[in-house]
Amino acid sequence: IITGKKIGCICITERKHGSDAVNMETKVIDKEDHLIFTGEKLYTTNGPVADYFIVYGVSDVSDPRGTMYQAIAERGHEGLITNRLGIQSVPRVQIGQTLFNSVKIPRENILGGKGQGYKNLFSGLVAERCSIIGSSLGIGWLTAITGLIYTNLRTQFNRPLYDFQGVSFPQTQNFIELMAATELGFKSASEYNKTIDRKHFDQQKFVKYNAAFSSGTKYLASHLAQKISYETQQLCGGIAFTDNLRIDKALEVAKVQEIIGGARNIQL
Ligand SMILES: Cc1cc2nc3c(=O)[nH]c(=O)nc-3n(C[C@H](O)[C@H](O)[C@H](O)COP(=O)(O)OP(=O)(O)OC[C@H]3O[C@@H](n4cnc5c(N)ncnc54)[C@H](O)[C@@H]3O)c2cc1C
Repeated sequence: IITGKKIGCICITERKHGSDAVNMETKVIDKEDHLIFTGEKLYTTNGPVADYFIVYGVSDVSDPRGTMYQAIAERGHEGLITNRLGIQSVPRVQIGQTLFNSVKIPRENILGGKGQGYKNLFSGLVAERCSIIGSSLGIGWLTAITGLIYTNLRTQFNRPLYDFQGVSFPQTQNFIELMAATELGFKSASEYNKTIDRKHFDQQKFVKYNAAFSSGTKYLASHLAQKISYETQQLCGGIAFTDNLRIDKALEVAKVQEIIGGARNIQL
């Protein structure tokens, strides 16, 4: 996966359990030498083209925290079926439905045994949120700088648009907020780095702090990306809706950042 020769995906979300992912219904039966997974996962990014599927399920739905497993299913495992969903905001990304029809996963593919799957789910979310912070900041800087260049080049009333305070002040505010969010993004990543070398990994307090910090920064950065691309679209006028500037596309992708890895409202 790291070399890019194989594609991986993560299967958490289900039809009835999105924000409430912990109460998932994908069923695990623990046999001596393998696990059997049965359930439906939705919105699996890369699912339709994936070679490896990190999947979560529970052996007792009344105790998901104590009985959650995490394992790797592989393309070709009997009963594993993927279908593509049409997601208009990101039409080129392969996002899908992943069906586990009594899929037998060998014991050596277990990443988190009974109960450990739950802990792995949450520590994995920290890494995911750090990456969403990165993509959100990327969208924010891309649109803010595009807007800055365009409003300096475009003239109306015989002056560059940027000469008008109604155009320059909102952009200045965007840059101030972006700089602050970027600092928080670096801080989230460096805090997460500490868990990679495992020095602090088992300290429950530290893990909770890390989860809260990355979640809060993801909330802020993704919302900011959406706000800045929307504002920039407004300040650039009609051309922002064309593929000359692609601000409209950036706005679509920014909106997705607010949903993935934990939707905005649930993060509050
Ligand atoms: C493009 C895309 C890619 C994705 N990729 C993946 C993937 O690779 N793997 C995967 O497993 N999932 C993936 N997802 C799913 C994503 O994680 C979920 O869509 C997300 O967690 C929200 O779940 P939901 O859609 O069921 O919304 P719901 O849980 O139904 O929530 C709807 C709204 O209600 C709010 N809400 C819900 N509960 C509360 C609460 N208690 N308090 C306040 N507000 C609340 C939410 O914030 C949201 O605004 C992807 C989704 C998209 C759109």
